[in-house]
Amino acid sequence: MSDGAIVRGRDLERGLDVACDVVVVGTGAGGSVAIRELARAGLSVIGLEEGGYHQPRDFNQREEAMFPLLFQDGGGRTTKDLAIRVLQGRGVGGSTVHNTNLCKRTPDAILDLWARRYGVSGAGVRDLAPSFERIERDLSVSPIDPRLVNANNDVLRRGAGALGYAWSVLSHNRVGCQLSGFCELGCAYDAKQNALKVMIPEATRAGARIYADARVVRVTYIAGRVTGVEGVIVDGAGEVVGPLRVRAKVVVLAASATASAAIALRSGLPDPHFQLGKGLRMHPGAVCAGRFDQEIDGHHGIPQSVECTELLDFDEGSDKRVWIIPAFAHPIGTASTLPGFGARHMRAMRSYRNLAVLTAMLHDHSSGEVDHEDGRPVLHYSMNEPDRAALARGLVACARILFAAGAREVTIPAIPPVRLESARELDRLDTSFVRPHGVPLSAVHPMGTMRMGDDPRRAVVGSTGEHHQVKGLFVADGSLFPTSLGGPPQISIYAFALHLAPHVVAAAR
Ligand SMILES: Cc1cc2nc3c(=O)[nH]c(=O)nc-3n(C[C@H](O)[C@H](O)[C@H](O)COP(=O)(O)OP(=O)(O)OC[C@H]3O[C@@H](n4cnc5c(N)ncnc54)[C@H](O)[C@@H]3O)c2cc1C
Ligand code: SF4
Repeated sequence: MSDGAIVRGRDLERGLDVACDVVVVGTGAGGSVAIRELARAGLSVIGLEEGGYHQPRDFNQREEAMFPLLFQDGGGRTTKDLAIRVLQGRGVGGSTVHNTNLCKRTPDAILDLWARRYGVSGAGVRDLAPSFERIERDLSVSPIDPRLVNANNDVLRRGAGALGYAWSVLSHNRVGCQLSGFCELGCAYDAKQNALKVMIPEATRAGARIYADARVVRVTYIAGRVTGVEGVIVDGAGEVVGPLRVRAKVVVLAASATASAAIALRSGLPDPHFQLGKGLRMHPGAVCAGRFDQEIDGHHGIPQSVECTELLDFDEGSDKRVWIIPAFAHPIGTASTLPGFGARHMRAMRSYRNLAVLTAMLHDHSSGEVDHEDGRPVLHYSMNEPDRAALARGLVACARILFAAGAREVTIPAIPPVRLESARELDRLDTSFVRPHGVPLSAVHPMGTMRMGDDPRRAVVGSTGEHHQVKGLFVADGSLFPTSLGGPPQISIYAFALHLAPHVVAAAR
């Protein structure tokens, strides 16, 4: 069954061949805003989404069902060297469907840096302010009530507080939250004010058509101007049901920082300065678990509500580049991260309810690259030594915070595992294990790869979002960012898509 202006692949037995003013590839944070704004401007707009169209009633809170449903590669995407697990969304609403709803604007220092060092114009603090305000209003962003901080987040609050570290309670885009704790598996209570709930319905009300199960493989162009996109329509199980062809004056790539570049590479777009796919930032994170005497039940309540920014500043050259937040997982996720086998692993899992888990996420300077295999992203990334050292300091800080909050034992799931019984052991800890393949690393915020900037020798798209070499091709997702943001990117991506929309409208008229 399809739902009004949102059509599923299984209802397109012969595939799809249509024309419109603008076709938008991807319906996540960036794509949903682009679709809505362009439709509101009176253009005929088609949004294409390779994943399915799911609704709150589909979110059954089971890890084994929701990971295959909502995540790219069933949640098993990694960098090519298998060192970093990369979680990204798949389906109408993109990664906003399963994200944890933290809302932070792009730091002023980052916007200044992009203007100063990366030739990004018209996107300063004052230029972006109206877009941030609009997006925050649209998504009902509000500060989290400190009384709703759950026990896992309270460990961070107490531990950071005891050490005199900077911490604060975050803002989020939830309304009517039931504190179930299942955010990463989709919200069965429809409390998330995300792309699926807010932007996509507003876009279809404005006249946009959305096709789910529509996988774009390439952008088509002639004589330096886009003509549309091609790909395949699949059914709910991923089987090809027919060809996909959309003819359009303007194409907007918003398939995420990994997939947009892969599609662009597969299309053979001109890339005279070898910039396409480069500059991949992963914002990788590593975790540290503390065992407490009392039950923490970190799976219950708002998963992330407190941050610690003691080790995070955005001054150029700073070695404080780690954002610390809680990172509690459901049982399968926890079991796959906790070290040990057999009886030892079972003992560790028996303390599940008494664990508090923190993650150190690195504002990385290391720069990777997206390649592709038949249009699917392949991620190359290796961490440089200053980044490795900064992440190690972050992980040590996580352990200190856990002890300061009363942990009996702290485990870093390294190979071999590091088990600590007091904060004093941290003073002489050899942290050389903090490296790819030495600790499990994961990334939920890939960015870069089609970065913006006025100089075509250093950027793929201009400050308007339009490709430097191909007219009518725009980018409106996390690919745009010239550096890591050092924090959660959804508000930045929504806001940049809004900020750039007038340029797309002008190109389509
Ligand atoms: C577990 C998790 C928790 C997170 N928590 C937060 C948080 O609390 N706060 C925050 O700010 N950010 C969070 N994020 C990150 C945030 O959700 C993403 O950065 C943001 O949604 C990215 O927006 P985007 O538009 O670039 O891509 P996405 O939102 O990922 O959307 C891209 C869409 O394009 C589709 N697509 C890909 N390839 C194709 C193709 N070939 N054809 C058609 N469609 C395609 C994808 O299926 C996807 O739906 C989290 C991410 C994860 C994984
Ligand atoms: S914690 Fe709130 S937002 Fe998250 S899944 Fe539960 S009800 Fe939804």
